[in-house]
Formats: sequence, structure tokens, C-alpha cells
Amino acid sequence: TIILGIETSCDETAVAIVKNGTTIVSNVVASQIESHKRFGGVVPEIASRHHVEQMTLVLEEAFTQAKLTWDEIDAIAVTEGPGLVGALLIGVNTAKAVAFAKQKPLVGVHHIAGHIYANRLETEFQFPLLALIVSGGHTELVLMKEHGSYEVIGETRDDAAGEAYDKVARMLSLPYPGGPQIDRLAAEGEANINFPRAWLEEGSYDFSFSGLKSSVINTIHNASQRGEELKSQDIAASFQSSVVDVLVSKTLRAAKEYKVKQVIVAGGVAANSGLRNALKDAFADTEVPLLIPPLKLCTDNAAMIAAAGTIAYEQGKRASWDLNANPSLILE
Ligand code: ATP
Ligand code: MG
Ligand code: FE
Repeated sequence: TIILGIETSCDETAVAIVKNGTTIVSNVVASQIESHKRFGGVVPEIASRHHVEQMTLVLEEAFTQAKLTWDEIDAIAVTEGPGLVGALLIGVNTAKAVAFAKQKPLVGVHHIAGHIYANRLETEFQFPLLALIVSGGHTELVLMKEHGSYEVIGETRDDAAGEAYDKVARMLSLPYPGGPQIDRLAAEGEANINFPRAWLEEGSYDFSFSGLKSSVINTIHNASQRGEELKSQDIAASFQSSVVDVLVSKTLRAAKEYKVKQVIVAGGVAANSGLRNALKDAFADTEVPLLIPPLKLCTDNAAMIAAAGTIAYEQGKRASWDLNANPSLILE
């Protein structure tokens, strides 16, 4: 099966071609980070316009790199949600237009299912499987008992992990996106500030990062009132250690409780070196294999959408011509 994937949920215009849900034939990503940087975050209207400008070029480049023709494509998979509605609409309408013109089946994909399936481009899945999703908009623990089935066993009650990184980075006057900047600073600092860890109720797999964020603001503010200046490296290291502690403990506990055969990590924050190292250490003492995708498959791309779309296609799922962007699409 050869699937063409299209992703435009946020600020990357991406098209990829994937074979059998496991092998990347081509994977083209046009990032808009430079255009949004000066606003300190993604501006939805600018994102939509860039998608319109870039889409045809990115689509053609995906075919050029793949050295394939339309005849060889079995179906088109597109992110239908969640994400920015105006951004999603460019991908959805492109997918519908080419599917209609080339008479190909169309499959809608949940963006987070895509992040999970990025891992299958590296290693075959074994069920039951636990996925830790840590991205700009999501922080979830998802249990999968078979392909295409998702049970959310825990999720954030307020900010997503990536969102917390980006907000703390902004307090430290670091450029957008802040995650990689905090990661870099944290490596040079010491986790000597005791920020809170939101464990929530006993046994809960939910997360909360807004209290941590407030604590960072208050700590910086109180220090400056006293005329002290805290090292931003230490703030970054202390903040990161609080986030990583909670993510790793809950993932480890869930992996044991559900007796999973594999743990996978997905989403942009899976690129975080502190999280990668702590997870590797934690799972080294267990029998459970841990999969962390290479950096370029952690952030938004269309190969992951094609990979998730392959399963949906093989399971006989088809979108109709009234497929629409759904900014709050749910995973389960
Ligand atoms: P979602 O997938 O939930 O819709 P999104 O697509 O915007 O959101 P991703 O592209 O998966 O999110 O990830 C982007 C996020 O990852 C940003 O918040 C960014 O700061 C964070 N991020 C990227 N690299 C790192 C890193 N090394 N350390 C921490 N965070 C990182
Ligand atoms: Mg992004
Ligand atoms: Fe994403």
C-alpha cells in the first residue's frame, strides 16, 4: 500500500509518501517558524496563508523526491483535526481536490494518531502498547490494544507540556519556540530550585502544568523584588526536572499497571533531551522496550499522517466528500 499524507494542522505545511505504513518514500516539511517568531507564537491567519502558498510546491516536491507518479498512489490521508481550523482547511481541501481529480480514496486522520504512528516508521508495534504524547497542544497517556484503537488513560487538565515550555521560555525572554531553548539552557544549569510536581490524586494518570508555570513566574518575580537575579540556566533545569519527573513516573507506573509490551513517546516534546534520557534510565531497569522517534519525526510532519492513514485505509475506513476540518476532533 502506498499512501500520500498531507498535514497542515499548525505551522508546518507537510506532504509525504509512505509505503506499507512503515517506510518513508518521501517526506517534505515547509516550516513557518521564521514568520511566526516575531509574534512569539503561531498567528493563525498567517499560518493559513503560508499553507496556501506552500501547498502546491510541497506536494510536487514530495512526488519529485519519491520518483513516483499518481498512478502508484493507493489513497490520500489528511489530518482532519485537531488544530487551527483555517490551517486544517487548506490540507483537507487540497486532499479532497486531488482525491477527486485523481479518483483516489480519501482517509481522515487524527493528528495525535499521526504522532503515535511516527514510531511505526522506525519499529513495528506490539500490543498492548502505551503511548506518551507530549506536544504543543497535548499531553496524554494512550493505551492501544490493537491498531487504530486508542484509550486515553490520562491527560492534562490545563496546559500541555509543550505549552508550558513555550510559556516559561517567554518569561525568560527566549525566542519562539521555547522548548528547544529551555532544553539547551537546562543542560548548562542546576536543578536547585524546588518547583512543585503535580501528582494529582493517588492513582491518577492526569497531568497539570499550570501550577508549575505560576510557580516559575512567582519565583522569578520574588527574586527580583529581593534584588536577586536567578540564573536562567538554573530556572530552566529546575522547571525541566519538575516536568520530566512527573511525565516519567506516570508513564512508568502505567506501563506496569497495564502490562504493556511497548512504550512509545510522541510529539514535539519527545525531542527534549532531559525527557529522553530520564525515560531511557527509567525503562532500562524494566523488561519493557521504549521507543523514541528520531528528532525529525517528533515534530509535525506528513509521514506520520500517511503511516496512521495506512492503518485506517487497510481497516476499510473512508472519508466522504463532505470531510471537514474539525479543530476539536477527539482521538478515542
Ligand atoms: P499538537 O501536536 O498537540 O497539535 P503541535 O503540533 O504544535 O501541537 P508539536 O509540533 O508536536 O506540537 O510540538 C511542538 C512543541 O514541542 C512546542 O511546544 C515546542 O516548544 C516543543 N519542543 C520542541 N523541541 C523541544 C525540546 N527539545 N524540548 C522541549 N520542548 C520541545
Ligand atoms: Mg509545530
Ligand atoms: Fe503536532
